Amino acid sequence: MKIVMLGAPGAGKGTQAEMIAAKYGIPHISTGDIFRYNIKNGTDLGKEAKKYMDEGKLVPDELTVRLLLDRVAKDDCKDGYVLDGFPRTIPQAEVLTKELEKQDAKVDFAINVDVPDEDIVRRMGGRRACVNCGATYHVVYAAPKVEGVCDKCGSKLVLRDDDKPETVQKRLKVYHEQTQPLIEYYEKKGVLRTVDGTRDLHEVFADIAAILEQN
Ligand code: ADP
Ligand code: ADP
Ligand code: ZN
Repeated sequence: MKIVMLGAPGAGKGTQAEMIAAKYGIPHISTGDIFRYNIKNGTDLGKEAKKYMDEGKLVPDELTVRLLLDRVAKDDCKDGYVLDGFPRTIPQAEVLTKELEKQDAKVDFAINVDVPDEDIVRRMGGRRACVNCGATYHVVYAAPKVEGVCDKCGSKLVLRDDDKPETVQKRLKVYHEQTQPLIEYYEKKGVLRTVDGTRDLHEVFADIAAILEQN
């Protein structure tokens, strides 16, 4: 099963993708996580991506596409995957469609996690990310067992640089201009499913699981 998560930054794509991956035994692939991993390790890719990420801009398609195609070519992706944060532009979606066509495959579901901008700004201020493993928490809605400490690996939790309010506004603008058109793109392909992302994260997941088990 090949799944694409759509939605604004902070809509809960990563949270839901993680639960989908755990339940269905497929890898959760987040381009943002891959970029952050490269930044942490000081790679050339990380240095290049950071310039854009800090500004709330998208990393250029060419770089992003190359990275994603390398990742989905790995062995663990044979039975499918859940993409979180890719595609984010129409050209990225077209590359993915073409690549899958070569393998006689397609995106089975594009899950649009729908959350209005007002809620997004509130959520991002409370998001905390693990500096080591990238796990995501929220100070109120998804709190770790011990404040400031990752449940999974015990490392420190921080507010991401790009989750500061000014950058969040820029990212929302970029989302509306460049990423939102993907909703129509996948609707035309007949694979779009929209869920109300404003509810409790377990309720949102129940809706998604029902969609994935539909056929
Ligand atoms: P969020 O989960 O809040 O939407 P991500 O972790 O997905 O954030 O992405 C963080 C940043 O990484 C983005 O603002 C963008 O700069 C960059 N990025 C991630 N995925 C892509 C992509 N597919 N295309 C271009 N830039 C990307
Ligand atoms: P995205 O990957 O779309 O950027 P995340 O999954 O990182 O979004 O979620 C953004 C923030 O909101 C995180 O702090 C997360 O813990 C929290 N969150 C996720 N889903 C919900 C929900 N349904 N209700 C409230 N907070 C949520
Ligand atoms: Zn961790």
